[in-house]
Amino acid sequence: MKTDFLVIGASVTGINVARELKQRFPDNTVAVIDKENGCARHSSGRNSGMLDAGFSWPADSLKARFSRLGNQQLTQYCESNRIPVNKCGELVIARDEDELSVLDDLQRRAEGNGVKMEQADPRSAREIEPRARVCEQALFSPASAAVDPVAVMRQMEQDARDAGVRFYYATSYLRKAGDEYITTLGTVQAGYVVNCAGLYADRIAQEFGFAANFRLLPLKHSYLESSDVPGAFRTHISAAADLSGSYPGVHIALSVDGKARLGPAVKPALWREQYHGAEGFQPFEMSRVVGVGLGQMFQGGKEICKACLQRFTGSAHSRLLSAGNRLAREIRAGDYRDWARPEIQPQLVNTETHRMVSDFVIEGDSKSMHVLNTVSPVFTCSMPLAQHVCDQIAAVGR
Ligand SMILES: Cc1cc2nc3c(=O)[nH]c(=O)nc-3n(C[C@H](O)[C@H](O)[C@H](O)COP(=O)(O)OP(=O)(O)OC[C@H]3O[C@@H](n4cnc5c(N)ncnc54)[C@H](O)[C@@H]3O)c2cc1C
Repeated sequence: MKTDFLVIGASVTGINVARELKQRFPDNTVAVIDKENGCARHSSGRNSGMLDAGFSWPADSLKARFSRLGNQQLTQYCESNRIPVNKCGELVIARDEDELSVLDDLQRRAEGNGVKMEQADPRSAREIEPRARVCEQALFSPASAAVDPVAVMRQMEQDARDAGVRFYYATSYLRKAGDEYITTLGTVQAGYVVNCAGLYADRIAQEFGFAANFRLLPLKHSYLESSDVPGAFRTHISAAADLSGSYPGVHIALSVDGKARLGPAVKPALWREQYHGAEGFQPFEMSRVVGVGLGQMFQGGKEICKACLQRFTGSAHSRLLSAGNRLAREIRAGDYRDWARPEIQPQLVNTETHRMVSDFVIEGDSKSMHVLNTVSPVFTCSMPLAQHVCDQIAAVGR
C-alpha cells in the first residue's frame, strides 16, 4: 500500500485527525489502519459519553483549551447529524464546610477557562437535582451533557469515508523498516505517520525516537450501573474537592437516555488490554507493566504512592457506594449491583519527575506525529485536538 498519510488507530483521535488531514490536504491520500475489526473497539467506544464543559482543568493545559471548544463542536456535530444529546448539565457540590473554599477555587478556574458556571444555594440546587446532598453551596454547569459514544463514532467514521479517507481493519502496525512500515496487511509506504494508537501509542512513539521519558501504566476504570428508572437523576453530580486536582473522583454520570452510573473504581490493569480476568493474557506486557509500576513507586516515593493509593483505595464496591451516598440520597446497594463494561486509560508516568502525566502529550517531527496520554476527556476534546495535531504537523513542515 502507498499513502501520503498513514493514521494508526480508527478511534476518536485517529478518525478526527484523518478527517482533518483530508480536509486540509484534499489531493493527498489518507489511510487509517486498526488492528480490530471495526472502529472504536477500545476507549472511544467504551467511555461514559459525558461531554465535559471544561471548567475544572488547569488554565494552562491542553485539556482546558480543548474541552470547552470540543464540547461546543461535538454538541453541534451531534445536532446537525441528528444524534441525541442529553443536555443534563452537571451539579458540582460542596459535601461539607471544608469544601466550600474549593468550590470558590473551581468557580475562579471556570471563569479563567471561559466556562459558564451558575451559583446554586441549597434550595435552587434541590430544584436542579432533588437527590443531591448540598452543604450550603453548589455550582451548576449547563454545558455538561451526555451522548452515545458508539453512535458518534459510527457517524464520524462514515463522514471520514465520505470525505475519501480509506480504512483498513484487522490490520496491525508491527514495526518500522527504514522509510517503510510493516503491518499485518503488508508493507506500507507512507509520506507521514500519525500515531493515535491509544494504549499502544507510547510503544510506537518510542520506536520513532519519541516519548523517551514516559512509561505507560494501564489503569482499569469501572462504573456501577444503576437499575433505577431513567430520569431518577436529572444531572451529572460531582464533588468540588474531587474535581480540583488533575484526576476526577467518584461521580454520578448520566447516559444519553438518562440512566445513572456511579464510579469510577480504578485499578491497575496487568497488561494493556486486560478487560476481563486472564482473557488475552500477555506475559511480556505484564512483566513490563508490573516493573514500571513498582519501579516508579519505588523511585517516585511518597508522591506516586499517594497518587496510586488515592485512586485505588476507593475502588471496592462498598467504598464506591459510600462515596455515592455523600453525593446523593438513596444510593442503595440493591440498585447498584452490575458493573458496566470496563475501560482502560493509557496513563503515562514521567520517568524524570515520577509523576502521573495529567495533560495530553504531542511529539513529532517532519516524518511522524504521536498523540500520547489520551486520557479523559479526549472524547470531548477530539475535534479541536485533531485540529491542533494537524497544526503541529504543518508547523514541522509537512
Ligand atoms: C472509564 C472512562 C470513562 C471515560 N469517559 C469519558 C467521557 O465521559 N468523556 C470524555 O470526553 N472522555 C472520556 N474518557 C476518555 C476517552 O474515552 C478516551 O480518552 C478516548 O476515547 C481515547 O481515544 P483514542 O482514540 O485516543 O484511543 P482508543 O479509543 O483507545 O483507540 C486507539 C485505537 O488504536 C488501535 N491500535 C492500537 N495499537 C494498534 C496497532 N499496533 N495497530 C493498529 N491499530 C492499533 C486500537 O485498536 C484502538 O482502536 C473516559 C475514559 C475512561 C477510562
